[in-house]
Amino acid sequence: MVKIEQCPVCGYEQFSPFLTLCDYFLSGETFDIVQCDQCSFRFTNPRPQNNELGRYYESQEYISHSNTKSGLFSVMYQSIRRRTIRTKFQMISGLSKGNSILDIGCATGELIHYFADRGWKVMGIEPNEKARHFAREQYQLQIEDENYLVEALPGSFDVVTMWHVLEHVPDINARIKEAKSVMKDDGLLLIAVPNPDSWDAGYYGKYWAGYDVPRHLHHFTKKSMHQLLINYGLKVENEIPMKIDSFYVSLLSEKYLHGKRKWIAAFWSGIRSNICARSKNNYSSMIFVVKKEKT
Ligand SMILES: [Zn+2]
Repeated sequence: MVKIEQCPVCGYEQFSPFLTLCDYFLSGETFDIVQCDQCSFRFTNPRPQNNELGRYYESQEYISHSNTKSGLFSVMYQSIRRRTIRTKFQMISGLSKGNSILDIGCATGELIHYFADRGWKVMGIEPNEKARHFAREQYQLQIEDENYLVEALPGSFDVVTMWHVLEHVPDINARIKEAKSVMKDDGLLLIAVPNPDSWDAGYYGKYWAGYDVPRHLHHFTKKSMHQLLINYGLKVENEIPMKIDSFYVSLLSEKYLHGKRKWIAAFWSGIRSNICARSKNNYSSMIFVVKKEKT
């Protein structure tokens, strides 16, 4: 385990305990989330060494990296994923003037495959070797590992996306710098993360699936995301809710809380979360639409 001594967002060196919770998904091990005393950023601390993180992803159930179609949950997941891809495409087409996209953490590449079919120039970054191989074989996509981000030509892409990725990344500062570098000057960066200020996070507490320790190393509120981006001359233009996530996260949280998937309870939690989110735009997951500050 490695102990983080400086807040990744503001550099402050004093933190307070925020939550102690279990890896309900896989290992059953216990982890702590701390909160920075200066900027309130929350992060998993201590956390596994970088070379130890891989074993926390080794599960048959880790379906974002596979395409198994058995079981109600997987069928539902696949169907929602297809719908989500359409929605993301429509949103990005509406926001972007250009048509090149880099998806960082593209998993098996379904999203950029959809974009490629509609005439976009696409590329993916994926650390998982099996997922990279699948995306290349299945869809003939150009998928590279994370080293590519360091070597990539600056200003190559109109749109750079990270869908539920930044919370997993050990060095968020390096990743934001890399993402900024590969964006065109008038390009867009879209970052989607779970929201620990959402109603479902409060309701499920330590059982909230959005914490997902130790795979999630960072737990971004809107405030901490804004501050991290400002440090790099980036600014949030818009915050868009991912309303479907409240249902999915509630279903997993019900499983962690009760040991089984309680579909009806999760459905009502999803509804309540989305209703309570309206006044402050604090949905279960948020997409931050980010641009470079004009210099
Ligand atoms: Zn801080």
